[in-house]
Amino acid sequence: MSERAAPFYCPYCGDEDLRPGEQGHGAWECGACNRAFQLKFLGLLARGLRRADDQGGDGA
Ligand SMILES: [Zn+2]
Repeated sequence: MSERAAPFYCPYCGDEDLRPGEQGHGAWECGACNRAFQLKFLGLLARGLRRADDQGGDGA
């Protein structure tokens, strides 16, 4: 029902009692610990979708 990212759990206490915050886009409030936080999309990673294990860890 929304096009923006919604957290499933509070990143601070892990509760699911989240509600949209009043601070605007991406803001959420946790009803369990009374924390307010904001999600922000920072952009795509430059390394793309490749796995990050292609160097320095072959085990030999
Ligand atoms: Zn919380």
